[in-house]
Amino acid sequence: MALKTIIEPFKIKMVEPITMSTEAERKKFLKDAHLNTFLLDSDQVIIDMLTDSGTSAMSASQWAGIIDGDESYAGSRSWKRMEKVVKELTGMEYVLPTHQGRAAERIIYTHLGGKGKTFISNTHFDTTRANIEFSGADAIDIPIEEGKNPKQYHPFKGNMDIKQLEENILRLGAENVGAVILTITNNSGGGQPVSMENARQVGEVCKKHGVLYLQDMCRIAENAYFVHHREKAYADVDYKSIAQEMMSFADGAVMSAKKDALVNMGGFLSLRDEKIANECKNLLIITEGFTTYGGLSGRDMEAIAIGLDEVFDADYLHYRIRSTEYLGNKLHEMGIPLMLPIGGHAVYIDAKEMYPHIPVDQYPGQTLVSELYHVGGVRSVEIGSVMFGRYDDKGKLIPSPMELVRLAIPRRVYTQSHIEYVIEVFGEVQKRIKDTKGVKITYEPAFLRHFTAHFESL
Ligand SMILES: *Cc1c(COP(=O)(O)O)cnc(C)c1O
Repeated sequence: MALKTIIEPFKIKMVEPITMSTEAERKKFLKDAHLNTFLLDSDQVIIDMLTDSGTSAMSASQWAGIIDGDESYAGSRSWKRMEKVVKELTGMEYVLPTHQGRAAERIIYTHLGGKGKTFISNTHFDTTRANIEFSGADAIDIPIEEGKNPKQYHPFKGNMDIKQLEENILRLGAENVGAVILTITNNSGGGQPVSMENARQVGEVCKKHGVLYLQDMCRIAENAYFVHHREKAYADVDYKSIAQEMMSFADGAVMSAKKDALVNMGGFLSLRDEKIANECKNLLIITEGFTTYGGLSGRDMEAIAIGLDEVFDADYLHYRIRSTEYLGNKLHEMGIPLMLPIGGHAVYIDAKEMYPHIPVDQYPGQTLVSELYHVGGVRSVEIGSVMFGRYDDKGKLIPSPMELVRLAIPRRVYTQSHIEYVIEVFGEVQKRIKDTKGVKITYEPAFLRHFTAHFESL
């Protein structure tokens, strides 16, 4: 007998109160924040689905590890512990600790990048692309065709197009390719997984042409869950072994520990090549810190070591992926249009389809974000024309290809009843669709406008 109710595979030992609010209060909070949920105070939010980054709840073991952290400048015990866990997972000899993922990216892409170089990825995450382009290099994305279609089912929509990979290497010349980067899972592509077969094939093409192969391993454990359940040959292989095998194909890896290491801050860069590692260590020392702590406290490294082990727990991963899927499937059953299948860390709503009467220059995504907050205090984020829209010479909006809203699920933070609450909020928002009006921008900065722009309801 298999029971169907999803329960959290943990008990709660310490609680953080949520400040509840009324609809009238939220209306005022939202107005004061100019309808931009980035400008809300966290105490004004009931369920925070802005991001899964750095928002994980740590376990009792991790908190115990915090006390046990060794803050020695050089050769800290906590560093040794983190280094051992990372080496065992990646199989790579050199580990450089950094304060978060983008610091590892800045170091490796400063070293490999520069004018004339091109990087090729299934999809570059925004900080990855920014670091590559800042070095003067170019970044191109080649997800498989199915990965671009929000409605089409494919078990591994995060895969890279192998044919295009080889064509691009031949076109550019292998010596001009900075590196090939496989983002696992593919965050910008909807948290979609990458298959073992694809990760292996990318490695074969890179080896054949002598191109460096990096993996962005932020969500390597969540990806392992999908490989185990969707790739036949791996049905009997445990999650950690799957992750280890996947990483065995790569020459290096970057990780934001704020995702699958279940901590609030941290990251690292792993490499096999001694020469590249030494060059990167020089860059590490200039801005992050000495090689045995990077930008981290001893206690942070202790928590990462423990988190990277806990994340592969089969009960944890089952709860994690199933509860994300549960939210997505319930919304789908209610008729809320969304990206399918549901990825690992988030549910993406198609706001353009949900609000067919709101044109893209009235930002249907931002409208849904406001609605979710107003009705239930749920904070989400627009991934559409507010974030990616540009203007042409005449000031007309060039919209983003999709108008999505992301509900990212923090790890181990919310319970099943919180998820039920979010579903109920959607039910109320859905009832108001016809009467919901779009928004207009009343203020916007020149760069990254989604963080600070102001809006008004039409
Ligand atoms: C979060 C993230 C990063 C950047 O990490 P930070 O810790 O936020 O600097 C890089 N790649 C992917 C896929 C991510 O999700």
